[in-house]
Amino acid sequence: MSEDRLETLIIIGGGPAGYTAALYAARAELKPLVIEGFQWGGQLQNTTHVENYPGYPEGIMGPEMMNEFRAQAERFGTRFITDDATEVELTDGSIQVVRVGKDEYAAKAVILSMGAEPKRLGIPGEMELQGRGVSTCGVCDGAFFKGDDVAVIGGGDSAMEDSIFISKYAKNLSVVHRRDEFRASKIMEGRARERGNIDFVTPYKPVEFVAGDDGKIEKVRLEHSDNGKSKELEVGGAFVAIGHIPKSDLVEGQIDLDDEGYVVTEEPSTKTNLAGVFAVGDLVDHTYRQAVTAAGSGTKGALDAEWYLRDTPPSPEAHWYGKAGQAQPEPTTAVEASS
Ligand code: NAP
Repeated sequence: MSEDRLETLIIIGGGPAGYTAALYAARAELKPLVIEGFQWGGQLQNTTHVENYPGYPEGIMGPEMMNEFRAQAERFGTRFITDDATEVELTDGSIQVVRVGKDEYAAKAVILSMGAEPKRLGIPGEMELQGRGVSTCGVCDGAFFKGDDVAVIGGGDSAMEDSIFISKYAKNLSVVHRRDEFRASKIMEGRARERGNIDFVTPYKPVEFVAGDDGKIEKVRLEHSDNGKSKELEVGGAFVAIGHIPKSDLVEGQIDLDDEGYVVTEEPSTKTNLAGVFAVGDLVDHTYRQAVTAAGSGTKGALDAEWYLRDTPPSPEAHWYGKAGQAQPEPTTAVEASS
């Protein structure tokens, strides 16, 4: 472990953004260390066919694509820790510290790319019945519901994508959405509507997932969004697909986040409010959240870090001062990066 070693660049998170940042940083000879997470690969690890990433005219499976991203970064010297970062000590322009359990890593710069995770409804039964019929990942769990009636909650592209996939296995599938209009793209909504076994239950919001005697989900209790009238759907499975929240817990209280928890960057750059700390991918992106936009964002992060390390690097001595419990020297104040 690198207890006595000062890394040049640590990248936290192993999705399209983190691996692309690593590829660029490795090619710039920054020798990046990626703390990629125990479940590396990000959300693409739970995706089947990716048909909208340029360069794959026939499409590619999400996990395979992540494997290739990772291999490409590794080819140029990226090193990986396949575990979750558990704690950080971020500074404004000095040495950045990242911990993985008891192991501590220090670096001159950090790129945050922890991504996002599924949003929850926050209703009774949702967490209790997780793994007992309630899921947030259609492509992971859809095949378990062969011949069952299933509900998918949500009105965005994720809900449509999950519905199309799960309807291959389910007997009947109900898309439950709180409004009559869908946020999903027309093409995705159209594809879902074309399936013979998908119906649309709107405008209803789920208020409870109810278990049967066997402890597994038996029904979803719904409430009409306008008149409050109740309705129940008998189901063998329910999928919550209502969007995502950024995985910013690790840095909360140390760096500027917006009201929804996304890391705030000095757009169009990836600079955060702390010099030497950059943020990329779904962790900063409210809007686009595609693999290709995340990869582009990772590129920007690597270039921003490269320019920072070239123009205003922290003094390496700060690392050793910090370890000795002494006051740290001021960060080097060379010419401001021209990014
Ligand atoms: P999203 O676009 O934010 O949609 C979330 C949906 O869930 C909305 O319809 C929202 O309802 C509903 N919702 C949110 N909170 C809810 C709650 N508490 N109770 C009930 N319903 C709730 O999220 P997404 O579908 O995950 O998509 C995110 C981004 O990824 C989008 O840019 C999308 O295009 C992209 N994406 C693309 C693909 C693809 O192209 N293959 C696949 C998946 C995702 P309201 O509409 O009423 O707010």
